[in-house]
Amino acid sequence: MKRALVTGGSGGIGAAICKRLAKDGLHVIVHANRSLGKAAGVVAEIAAAGGSAEAVAFDVTDRPATATALAALLDAGSIQVLVNNAGIHADAVFPGMSGEQWDSVVDVSLNGFFNVTQPLTMPMIRTRWGRIITISSIAGITGNRGQVNYSAAKGALHAASKSLALELASRNVTVNAVAPGIIATDMIADAFDAETIKSIVPMKRAGRPEEVADLVAFLASEHAAYISGQVISINGAMI
Ligand code: NDP
Repeated sequence: MKRALVTGGSGGIGAAICKRLAKDGLHVIVHANRSLGKAAGVVAEIAAAGGSAEAVAFDVTDRPATATALAALLDAGSIQVLVNNAGIHADAVFPGMSGEQWDSVVDVSLNGFFNVTQPLTMPMIRTRWGRIITISSIAGITGNRGQVNYSAAKGALHAASKSLALELASRNVTVNAVAPGIIATDMIADAFDAETIKSIVPMKRAGRPEEVADLVAFLASEHAAYISGQVISINGAMI
């Protein structure tokens, strides 16, 4: 049974990805930072549906703690599917953006990508099969007012994924980014009301976490073996 690690599995999109990958027969490691209880809830749902999962918690910005946690997970077997999904936003127009707002967002999304992905790369290469899928954002493609920090971090993930895809192409390890538009989770609940969503999304609705999960599951599958180094949008025709 292949094992998948989904960072931010305690969040809206992450939980949907965990459940979908478990449905596809993977053992899923549901990761949390502060909300281990929510990750445990996702594990219970997966188990109730006949799937296999476990919960783990660490802060992806803490490099030593992340390395220790990943080493323990690797002791139990290789991790062949990695979904870098953990992310935060701390919005402010740029003249008013604090260093803390800049650092925190870059730390979770971009440094978190390094802290989690780097230790898993060599073990993945050894198994000659792997999938690295990173959840970025439409803001990393188009930019967004009030999100210079967030769009910078997400755009950097596109470049990092393309470079890593080149390095790993001959090892049967694919590396892609998924760039969602507006997806109905707690993260955007305060940011957009229904009318705003209707005015900016051509499909007149937010996407569902399950729709993102379906795309991630495809990229994680055997069917997507020849797709690598891509940024794939899922945004109801926003761009
Ligand atoms: P949520 O806020 O629901 O979930 C965020 C997840 O990230 C949580 O599981 C949280 O863990 C985890 N996380 C935050 N900080 C850390 C940290 N320091 N270390 C480890 N984990 C951390 O967000 P969504 O589900 O909406 O978003 C998931 C991803 O999708 C993010 O990368 C986001 O940028 C991206 N995205 C979301 C869009 C949307 O419209 N919702 C649109 C485009 C992209 P915990 O709660 O346990 O602390």
